[in-house]
Amino acid sequence: MPVPLPGPDTRWRCRQCGNLTRFDVTRSTRGREYVHVDLAGEPAVEEREVLEDVVEHVSCRWCSAVDAVELVPRPASPLGRGSGSVGASS
Ligand SMILES: [Zn+2]
Repeated sequence: MPVPLPGPDTRWRCRQCGNLTRFDVTRSTRGREYVHVDLAGEPAVEEREVLEDVVEHVSCRWCSAVDAVELVPRPASPLGRGSGSVGASS
């Protein structure tokens, strides 16, 4: 079951308990590293490039529900305005 990813105007919310802030995210990442080996043979990674990044599971830290997240608007986003919770400033 695919997990919906939050964008610039959205955030995760646990459908089961309403948690907005704490999640365990299981992801598989493929990347490329620039490894610089010094003359003594000691390698150091100087650059990392993410080639592929897939979120496999998101579980709630509060109630342990797995993949029960939904996307809701962030408080400061245009999607979130108009719901009446933030004072009128403009
Ligand atoms: Zn939860």
